[in-house]
Amino acid sequence: MPFTLPPPLLEKLRARRDAQRATKRTLGPDTQPAAPRTIDPRDLPAIKALALHMVETRDAQQRAFEDAHDAFLLDPGMGPMTYLTSDGRILSDESTWFGEGVEEKTSTEANMVIVVGARKTGLEDLLELLPKKPEGARTCDRCEGTRWMPQGKGQVVCAVCGGKGFRAALVP
Ligand SMILES: [Zn+2]
Repeated sequence: MPFTLPPPLLEKLRARRDAQRATKRTLGPDTQPAAPRTIDPRDLPAIKALALHMVETRDAQQRAFEDAHDAFLLDPGMGPMTYLTSDGRILSDESTWFGEGVEEKTSTEANMVIVVGARKTGLEDLLELLPKKPEGARTCDRCEGTRWMPQGKGQVVCAVCGGKGFRAALVP
């Protein structure tokens, strides 16, 4: 089941995408990814140029994907770049990681992308797309309803509730 995007949220996503594009230097649609080559680790200008080229390549990939699917980038990685489409699907561009093609994420995986996306984009409204806590459900004891749990020095989406913040009611 795709998410249903309320019009105000869709508006915010579009505004954010427009604002982001206005600040980015974008290459043409036929930009090729940086060719692997050997760089002398002491050659700082060459390293800077390569890094810039990689950023520009990713920006161009993002723009092409967003245009093709009317999508909004929620998670630029670590991992494949993952998007929410205007019709509520979660798509990951596997070619930006180790795979190829486009993959649609559903159920718990999709929910977790939304939780990450709300944090990374700062658009808290995205959380409204997630299932509401039903009558009688318990607050998740692992994340205490925050949707996040500690991992190492950082945090990851709670693996117990899948980012919903609650668990099903106990069967009496
Ligand atoms: Zn939890």
